[in-house]
Amino acid sequence: MMQAMQVERPGAPLRMVERPIPMPGPGELLIEVAACGVCRTDLHVAEGDLNGPLPIVPGHEIVGRVRALGAGSEGFSVGDRVGVPWLAQTCGRCFYCQTGQENLCDAPLFTGFTRDGGFASHVVADARYCFPIPDRFGDAEAAPLLCAGLIGYRALRLAGAGEAIGLYGFGAAAHILAQVATWQGRRAHAFTRTGDAAAQDFARSLGCGWAGGSDEAPPELLDAAILFAPVGGLVPVALRHVRKGGRVVCAGIHMSDIPAFPYADLWGERSILSVANLTRADGREFLHIAAQVPVKTHVTVFPLAEANVALDRLRTGAIEGAAVLQP
Ligand SMILES: [Zn+2]
Ligand SMILES: [Zn+2]
Repeated sequence: MMQAMQVERPGAPLRMVERPIPMPGPGELLIEVAACGVCRTDLHVAEGDLNGPLPIVPGHEIVGRVRALGAGSEGFSVGDRVGVPWLAQTCGRCFYCQTGQENLCDAPLFTGFTRDGGFASHVVADARYCFPIPDRFGDAEAAPLLCAGLIGYRALRLAGAGEAIGLYGFGAAAHILAQVATWQGRRAHAFTRTGDAAAQDFARSLGCGWAGGSDEAPPELLDAAILFAPVGGLVPVALRHVRKGGRVVCAGIHMSDIPAFPYADLWGERSILSVANLTRADGREFLHIAAQVPVKTHVTVFPLAEANVALDRLRTGAIEGAAVLQP
């Protein structure tokens, strides 16, 4: 039997369930979960901000070991360590899949949202969308790389080549991105909740040259700002701190409404864009870079049965770095 923490009703606590360990289908891997990161998207799924099929087992930052191979699965052997990200499957046929933008696929599956994820002792995944994990990372340390790191890295790439980068919301993604941006020779500036001195100290310890509240002005105009906080009100705020031609990148899957703002704040070829999902190429590129930096993730580990506690702490901003569940 396997254990899983599943979302049954939006807003209700996740419930522990037991069920038979599934058989991997054609092209799939059966994976014994060693660690699974807790992402803000899991919170959106649990609270019903994102509506998918229920019940569902959340969790899309999975590190585990292959226990069985489905017919015709390629790339991994029994015993291999493997990472399972948010992008679970794409159609391979739509315009986006055929033009190198599989992150925008019209008929995708997402781990922990439209197929069962890693808040569990076991998970089944399509082998073609899994990644090998660099040896230098422990299981729990590697887990946050698979979404916070990977989709954060895509956001950093879409932010452009500018050197002055603002990070709004200093959680799991920003704590990884600050390290990558600094390694790339950029200047990272961290914006936290107003008065959160601990988060600001944490940001400076990871290479941020400046850290302050999201209501404060950074010490220089930004080439780009990346918003990890799901707060639409921060879009016009960030826009006012971005230079002409600069970008505001919204990296979350869900955000409260963006309030109206003067067109003059956008004028000057400033742009606002969103980042959606990942491509497999993003994953391979980021995991390679993460090992080179090397990124040091700061994790707080909870037993699987305490998934609700981890989600609560994430909701209230009480997690420094990333929360990770271990069965
Ligand atoms: Zn995520
Ligand atoms: Zn597609």
